[in-house]
Amino acid sequence: MFDRNVHQGPNFHAPVSTDSLGIQLYDNFVNNAKKTAMVDAISGKTVSYQDFLEVTCRLAQAFNRIGLTQDDIVSICSENSCNFFYPVIAAFYNGITVAPINFNYISTELLHVLGISKPKVLFCSKNSVRKCVEAKAHCQWMKRIIVLDDSDEVYEGAETLKRFLDENSDKYLDEYSFRPKVVDTLTHPACILCSSGTTGLPKGVVLSHDNISIRMCHATDPRYENVKPGITQLGFLPFFHGYGFITILSCLAMGQKVVMLNKFEEKLFLKTIQDHRIDSLMLVPPLLLFLSKTPLLNNYDLSCVQEITTGAAPLGKEIEQDVKNRFKVSRVRQAYGLTEATLAVLMMPRRDNKNGCCGKPVPGMSLKIVDKETGKSLGPNKVGELQVKGGMVMLGYYGNPAATAQTFSKDGWLLTGDLCYYDEDGYFYVVDRLKELIKYKGFQVAPAELEDLLFTHPKILDAAVVGLPDEKAGELPVAFVVKQHGVHVTDEEIKTFIAKQVSHPKRLHGGVRFIEKIPKNASGKILRRELRELLKQKTKSK
Ligand code: AMP
Repeated sequence: MFDRNVHQGPNFHAPVSTDSLGIQLYDNFVNNAKKTAMVDAISGKTVSYQDFLEVTCRLAQAFNRIGLTQDDIVSICSENSCNFFYPVIAAFYNGITVAPINFNYISTELLHVLGISKPKVLFCSKNSVRKCVEAKAHCQWMKRIIVLDDSDEVYEGAETLKRFLDENSDKYLDEYSFRPKVVDTLTHPACILCSSGTTGLPKGVVLSHDNISIRMCHATDPRYENVKPGITQLGFLPFFHGYGFITILSCLAMGQKVVMLNKFEEKLFLKTIQDHRIDSLMLVPPLLLFLSKTPLLNNYDLSCVQEITTGAAPLGKEIEQDVKNRFKVSRVRQAYGLTEATLAVLMMPRRDNKNGCCGKPVPGMSLKIVDKETGKSLGPNKVGELQVKGGMVMLGYYGNPAATAQTFSKDGWLLTGDLCYYDEDGYFYVVDRLKELIKYKGFQVAPAELEDLLFTHPKILDAAVVGLPDEKAGELPVAFVVKQHGVHVTDEEIKTFIAKQVSHPKRLHGGVRFIEKIPKNASGKILRRELRELLKQKTKSK
């Protein structure tokens, strides 16, 4: 039935490739072999597309020789590096699924996500090898750990990439007679990314080759992107997160040069942009806040920057304006998306400019705003839940049909859990989050995960975690805690208790508030909105 409140993206500017990601990337590497693919801004290491071709083809051969099939999964737990995408692309050549993992995860978090995807091979960096080897002892399905770094250093329980290649592939493999395998792009899983979705613990979002091919098609669409040849991108966002992962894959599929940075230091960040003449910056709001305020900006020539894109969390209008003025760019382009929909489903077209707005639906996607009470779609300027349908929507949560079913409406719309509206001209704005997810500096923090840990504390009777709005980080996780009767426990004790068991973004940066009772509805669901209201009142009364 026709619904005039459903907004559709425009037609694709070019057909979406029906080739596997492996074939698309391979063909682009062959065409761009002489060009630079990646530069490590710190070490100066430079990798050409020819290097990519050689290593990825040998790795694909090695995967075959050790018996990996299209039902298998390989994982990567590494900070950003020039080698990060080698196993990703080799896996795509063979139709093997890739599961990138947050390298900052501590052992328990690592075990949780490894338990979801059960990879046969885990690639890691030398910085993460220790915890990966420890984790392997609990993962009987895992066959080997391979250290991605270039060195020949020996690590107990792991092998180096060089050794793995030397032992399992032909040193002089003719990469030009190699051909990646064909897969059913609509149904074959390309990757499993981590997201907690609208509720509960982190889950594995399965994206198909076609999901990502659509995003790649958007990346070459001149209505949205600056697609001049020879563009240099900054590869700073973590490669394990969907935003960094899919953005960099798109750059590699277009033969762009990616200047890679794996740590944030103010001067290094600005110097890298200046020295490498970066054209395009894909950032998150905390970095834009830094760029809008830092006096250091005046010490660098950043006139090379043509385009600044932000996403993953809300961006304040003032910050947007300040960055625009400071960089003398016509606009800071905002996009909105979620891992479950292969990231950006709303993007600001290049010619348009509206402050504080996420733009319009992208090609291949339909979006509507729904009143959660009535289930009806809404017209302009009415706030409701954003729901999404189309070719970028995930195949589902890996091995979790119940969570998948919960995330879709009966007629197949993905429930984003975000409160949004659109104006009379069809431009969308994000207002608030309906789902429980907290975002600290763009990183997901699932309240359920912290609540489960709080419940294990012997002095805690009940607990709930919500986000406290914060200019720098976006949101800070705050725990509301009901103490066991007659015990003494301090907020510091609880903060330390959590800090020991989680990676940095999930710490209780917003503190602990003691409360008599956690507000819940009749079926026991935590009324998080009430807790957020309480935080607002407390902040006001300070
Ligand atoms: P992730 O799956 O980690 O990318 O997180 C997706 C969530 O980030 C969305 O559901 C939103 O809550 C939030 N988000 C992403 N982009 C924006 C944006 N431009 N403005 C506000 N929130 C955003």
